[in-house]
Amino acid sequence: MTLTRRVISGMAVSGAIKLLSLSSHVTSMHRSSAILYRQMSTEAQNVATRLKSSGLLRSQALIAGKWTEAYDKKVIEVTNPATGDVVANVPCMGVRETNDAISAAHEAFSTWSKTTAAERSKCLRKWYDLLIANKEELGQLITLEQGKPLKEAIGEVSYGAAFIEFFSEEAKRVYGEIIPTPLSDRRLFVLKQPVGVVGVITPWNFPLAMITRKVGPALASGCTVVIKPSELTPLTALAAAELSIQAGIPPGAVNVVMGNATEIGDALLASSEVRKITFTGSTAVGKKLMAGAANTVKRVSLELGGNAPCIIFDDADLDVAVKGALGSKFRNSGQTCVCANRILVQEGIYEEFASAFSNAVQNLQVGDGFADGIVQGPLINEAGLQKVETFVQDAISKGAKVLIGGRRHRLGMTFYEPTVMTNIKSEMLLSREEIFGPVAPLHPFRTEDEAIRLANDTNAGLAAYIFTTNIQRSWRVSEALEYGIVGVNEGLVSTEVAPFGGFKQSGIGREGSKYGIDEYIEVKYVCLGNMQS
Ligand code: ADP
Repeated sequence: MTLTRRVISGMAVSGAIKLLSLSSHVTSMHRSSAILYRQMSTEAQNVATRLKSSGLLRSQALIAGKWTEAYDKKVIEVTNPATGDVVANVPCMGVRETNDAISAAHEAFSTWSKTTAAERSKCLRKWYDLLIANKEELGQLITLEQGKPLKEAIGEVSYGAAFIEFFSEEAKRVYGEIIPTPLSDRRLFVLKQPVGVVGVITPWNFPLAMITRKVGPALASGCTVVIKPSELTPLTALAAAELSIQAGIPPGAVNVVMGNATEIGDALLASSEVRKITFTGSTAVGKKLMAGAANTVKRVSLELGGNAPCIIFDDADLDVAVKGALGSKFRNSGQTCVCANRILVQEGIYEEFASAFSNAVQNLQVGDGFADGIVQGPLINEAGLQKVETFVQDAISKGAKVLIGGRRHRLGMTFYEPTVMTNIKSEMLLSREEIFGPVAPLHPFRTEDEAIRLANDTNAGLAAYIFTTNIQRSWRVSEALEYGIVGVNEGLVSTEVAPFGGFKQSGIGREGSKYGIDEYIEVKYVCLGNMQS
């Protein structure tokens, strides 16, 4: 299939940013890019200044309720991916600081775990209220260090805060049980108790929500935490921690350290005081953590990589399918573990879908997340961009065709053009592995059985999507897919009230919903003997 228009994908179109000329003249393009870059930098600096005066731009770690430097005063730079500007320097910590944080969390556990569920619930509710009251500022911080468009970033704050609200309510519903006794002189019951100190390791793609999904249920059940956010996006974690203090969550219950990932991870794994590791990130690191946890037999919850199939059947509503696939694929510039990774399209609707989808992709506005109308920001860093380039080149070398995009964006930095590709084969890297970028490969199929076979032909099993108007098919295929999450006629399915997690190598455990708190609870059986009166 050929398209008559090559994409001139989204330019930043707000106010002064309109200055960027669409002219293909190279000199004028460079001049315009330079102007745009300066504007992006200035806007981001203004935001940083405002955040500093609001007290939410923190640049020290939080240990035992105190803002703390690294022992050796080493720092890491946090940069804005849209401009490359340094936003802040944060401590580069390692084993010693992590052990301090573990000790603080352990000490806090002895009191926090004994508070009533009602007390914990009130603190969490207050934290939620503060997160919402500071929604704009937190959103700005996310855009500043992660790059996603401001509207999407503020959406993440609402989504992330909702886990704190949900688990503030759930804290009160951790019920034990009385078991009917088989012997008349005994009484048997089950107590639910917090696991203990939890090591929380999170990625950069959702700098707030990946933390609240874990810390909400941990605190609700009476656990205390040592958070290690991604070194690429620690500022949102620190702002959230600041608000936890303002909410009255006691010192030491929430600690945040950052720096050398391996050292911090190893210290958390080595400590027998840390009873659980909860992790979201790559499958490779998840496997290392799981192996490392074996030494002290820690519990683990893992949210790892996906390879989401998005299956468009002939009987799909075309508009619903295009909107759903677009939302699932391009949110966060394609950098989510539930992003549609392979778009499988049935032959009868393939041409029509490819054309409508490409038109929609063509209209996606790319640029600095602070500019109006932008729906796709930069990728997180050069390594992320190079991975996308490698996948696209690999596909082209094996016969794939680029319909839209397919290269670095003229804005420079780590911007990449929203891309649609066809002639996709199963052996290509972008079919086998998580792309984590704005590239949509379209893969034709003939029958429902073939779609299910292709969809399940992966070690991942996090999210899958199907688009069909046939109710029987929607059930049949949902049941056949080896995935923890299935979206039917919907591309955005994450919510705090439903369980999020994967089958196969996509992970262990569930986050959100009533199931989410079980991950932080020990079940204790108590037998009362000699009860005859
Ligand atoms: P991504 O590719 O999404 O950055 P990673 O798995 O590399 O995924 O990173 C997710 C989180 O895991 C980040 O906070 C990162 O610093 C951390 N991390 C990376 N390597 C290790 C490790 N060896 N031990 C503990 N944490 C790690």
